[in-house]
Amino acid sequence: MLHIACTSYSGSTLLGYLLGSHGEFTATSQLAHLPRLAQANAKCTCGAALGACTFWHAVAEQHSGLKLIGKDSLTWWAAQALDPQSPGSKTDKARAALGLWGPRYGADHRFSAARGTAFDRHLRACAAAHVAVAAAVAQVAGTRWVADASKDRWLSLTLGRLAAPNVKSVVLVRDGRAVMASRMRRLGESAGQAAKMWLTHNLWLMRQQQLVGSEGGLRVRYEDLCVDPNHIVGQIRGHLDLPPAPVNPTLNKTAAHLIGGNPMRFETSAQTITLDERWRTDLKAADLRAFGVRARALNRLFGYGD
Ligand SMILES: [Zn+2]
Repeated sequence: MLHIACTSYSGSTLLGYLLGSHGEFTATSQLAHLPRLAQANAKCTCGAALGACTFWHAVAEQHSGLKLIGKDSLTWWAAQALDPQSPGSKTDKARAALGLWGPRYGADHRFSAARGTAFDRHLRACAAAHVAVAAAVAQVAGTRWVADASKDRWLSLTLGRLAAPNVKSVVLVRDGRAVMASRMRRLGESAGQAAKMWLTHNLWLMRQQQLVGSEGGLRVRYEDLCVDPNHIVGQIRGHLDLPPAPVNPTLNKTAAHLIGGNPMRFETSAQTITLDERWRTDLKAADLRAFGVRARALNRLFGYGD
């Protein structure tokens, strides 16, 4: 499994499509949303409702070892522990965060199985479920790698902390001002709220990179992916010990079975790569100031100037 760790609006749907243009990858978008979307029988990108999608039905059967009839797979998916956002208490979440942010080694770290809280156990089960579902997807699709971009900082750190076997990660970053503009436009957040969300999530992803080290992780930028997709996809392929291969710049969207993610997954008419830099005109001086006081330092660290 390739875990694409990123905040929302960072271009992971595009990266999934580009990786998926090779036979070694299946992109799933965000497995974390699968239980919720199964409950609503939401639409898959293949065009079918999840209850009628033969791909996710086959994955459910592969993973469960059961023969599922009709819409039974929806009930089965809805019950899977793939969503890290369980209603853990504030205290349990604070303790889990200490465990995830604490020293990597040491007998007393609080993320050990013996000392964990219910929320710790939930996170471990959730990370294990992601790895297991990815393995079932790989079996059904006949691909070596499954690229998933579930955007949950708890999941990213848990996968990093557990050093789950057969999991590699790539952190995908995007100029925080662009993410901020998208959040303000799509979610109605204030500049300050949006900047804080981008900063917090990316600080967690910096920690995830510390946990997995250079062997396990890699960081790439959305803007570089748009400008030179072959180079960035080649870097990721090299990280996974795959030989270089040219990407298909025409995005084949109808062939994928993506869960959650950016609305671009349903815009089947938009099939070429365009760098979205609307933030340069959308953001006002006050918005940029709000971003600067909170997140300029990390944005610069990622190579984004003023
Ligand atoms: Zn489908």
